[in-house]
Amino acid sequence: MMEGGIEIIAGPCSAESREEVLSSAAALKALGVETFRAGLWKPRTSPSSFEGVGAEGLPWLMEVRDTLGMRVATEVASPDHVKACLAAGLDLVWLGARTTANPFLVQEIADSLAGSEGVTVMVKNPVNPELELWAGAIERLRGAGLTDIVAAHRGSSSLEKLRYTTKPFWQIPVQLRGRFPGLRMLCDPSHIAGDATLVPEVAQKALDLGFDGLMVEVHPDPEKALSDSSQQLSPRDFEAMAASLKVRKAGSTDAAFNERLCALRAHIDEIDDSLVSLLADRMAASREIGELKKSGGVAIVQSSRWEEVLSSALALGRSRGLPEDLVRDLFTLLHEASISVQ
Ligand code: PEP
Ligand code: MN
Repeated sequence: MMEGGIEIIAGPCSAESREEVLSSAAALKALGVETFRAGLWKPRTSPSSFEGVGAEGLPWLMEVRDTLGMRVATEVASPDHVKACLAAGLDLVWLGARTTANPFLVQEIADSLAGSEGVTVMVKNPVNPELELWAGAIERLRGAGLTDIVAAHRGSSSLEKLRYTTKPFWQIPVQLRGRFPGLRMLCDPSHIAGDATLVPEVAQKALDLGFDGLMVEVHPDPEKALSDSSQQLSPRDFEAMAASLKVRKAGSTDAAFNERLCALRAHIDEIDDSLVSLLADRMAASREIGELKKSGGVAIVQSSRWEEVLSSALALGRSRGLPEDLVRDLFTLLHEASISVQ
């Protein structure tokens, strides 16, 4: 727990060995972290990546619990995982982003958790940016009679090349909180950022938005980590981040106003990030067209094509209520820039 009642879960992306688990837990315990995370079953994109040690690591987590007095947490992605975690006595299990995207699996996991006592269930947002899918997973868990539920925001995938590896879509957790008043919301800045140097700014944004806590990936030697190596903090970097974070939530008389303003600014920042990514893609496509035209001996400017581009942009803009001058000026600038790269 940090100042202001901010809850912190920290630990390596994956449990790799007993040594790695115990040494990272001891370092985090010394920094005041109460809940230790480590993934045992890792849902990896490529079958040739490290897929976790599985149930073999459960005793390591229980050793952390018994010797350091920390709460221990891992990801579950099937009823078998749930069964193993409940039998071992874990304190928290979470549904990962790929699991939350699959309602059949969420239902099976909810059913296998039914009747369990003393286990917190955390639900990450799905990999795709859908509020309803995230909300539906929470409803399935509630429907199974579970009451100790936490949501965790980790952004969603995007084809755009953005500042972070995921697109945060901050408006989605803000809407989720509106949907489930009182639901505890954590943020996972590690999976949003995808880069250790960017984790602190994402964590600060989450606190400014009124999140109740953070789940952060911390590895004793990030460069050697078997998964998510680029985004894991060393214990020393985690300590520096924790010392620098400012909790603006507690004590502020106009916290709601500040959170709303921060949410709107975060939304604008995401749009600007996308705009720049789209501009870069558009310029790259123009450059390719230029090369193709050159190889085919065709002139750079074809005025009929430009008229077509402009009139369809104007029509789209009109349908979205945009001022005509804005669209015309913007597309004229884009057209000039395209000609100059060609
Ligand atoms: C994780 O927390 O290690 C993880 C796999 O997260 P996500 O499901 O958000 O990708
Ligand atoms: Mn990870």
